[in-house]
Amino acid sequence: MERKIPFFNYPAQYKENEEEYDRVIKDVLSRGAYILQRDLEAFEAELRSYLGVRHAYGVADGTNAIMIGLRAVGIGPGDEVILPSHTYIASAAAVHFAGATPVLVEIGPDHMIDPASVAAAITPRTKAIMPVQLNGRTCDMAALQALADARNLMIVEDAAQALGSKFKGRGAGTFGAFGTFSFYPAKVLGCFGDGGAVVTNDDEVGERLALLRDHGRNAEGRVVAWGTNSRLDNLQAAILLAKFKRFDREVERRREIAGLYDESLRGINDLTLPPGPEADPDRFDVYQNYELEAGQRDGLRTHLAERGIGTIVQWAGTPVHRFEELGLYRDLPITDRFFERCFMLPMNTTLSNDDVAYVCDAIHDFYA
Ligand SMILES: *Cc1c(COP(=O)(O)O)cnc(C)c1O
Repeated sequence: MERKIPFFNYPAQYKENEEEYDRVIKDVLSRGAYILQRDLEAFEAELRSYLGVRHAYGVADGTNAIMIGLRAVGIGPGDEVILPSHTYIASAAAVHFAGATPVLVEIGPDHMIDPASVAAAITPRTKAIMPVQLNGRTCDMAALQALADARNLMIVEDAAQALGSKFKGRGAGTFGAFGTFSFYPAKVLGCFGDGGAVVTNDDEVGERLALLRDHGRNAEGRVVAWGTNSRLDNLQAAILLAKFKRFDREVERRREIAGLYDESLRGINDLTLPPGPEADPDRFDVYQNYELEAGQRDGLRTHLAERGIGTIVQWAGTPVHRFEELGLYRDLPITDRFFERCFMLPMNTTLSNDDVAYVCDAIHDFYA
């Protein structure tokens, strides 16, 4: 039986809770509550309590969150920040626009930033390590923290993909000097446009974040520092507040889907799967993405596309060190090899168990 399983289905996602969204939007518009209003404050309070952090600020998007975070902790010209090449261009761009230099390194066997590769890239100019909490999984923060402590470096976290993800019980985004999230529509907690947040437990950093995102204005509206305009729209905050109520349930559903993929595909030798939801007691993955490696990847993707199944290769198939025009090239053979094999299966809450079984059957069929 033929199905259509797009990689992501925005209209279906809206339909799931259409009446509630319509109500929220109408309520905000009726109040004329657009910028820095109570819905944003309420959402920031929810985020603080969910993560157990002292400060959380909604900002324009996940890219601005990193940029503002870096400026708040004083990273700028002359500084180097080490991050994995397997990340969105936004992570590196934020470092660039903070005035610092991005230094790209390898991923390890777990597909997250490789602490050994980080250690080898440290120079006298290195100021920070930026782990990217990719695909809804948290890096080995114990190893990275030990390295940062030993070399006197800051940790700053790009947790754009990892709200709710944990390492040894502690949430992604709460380890470093600051952590950032994206609410881009396809993210685990997505709004209906652009949105992001930056969080910290440091009071001084928190104060600077608040100033930086709103023209350097303090609570009385007086300009006390240089800042910019990077506020999370109140309308988006209201949507996020509504969606946040279902967030834990949605994460559970993602983990269920990951479990189904894992169970069905585990026996295929040509595939390297991400760890299953119960694979590692130190980790709680939220499965922003289900990214795997496959032999004959391109043939498999064509086979799936012919059966109505949408897949994508993350970052359109190019890790950051391969964007020649940016001049960040380094020899990263492990990452290069990974990008010949990696792709992502559909992973979102609009998938039924039958959809997942249909995808798995099509994969079995290809390798048979
Ligand atoms: C989505 C994403 C960002 C940027 O978020 P935007 O809200 O799109 O600006 C940064 N880093 C990673 C790893 C991401 O996946």
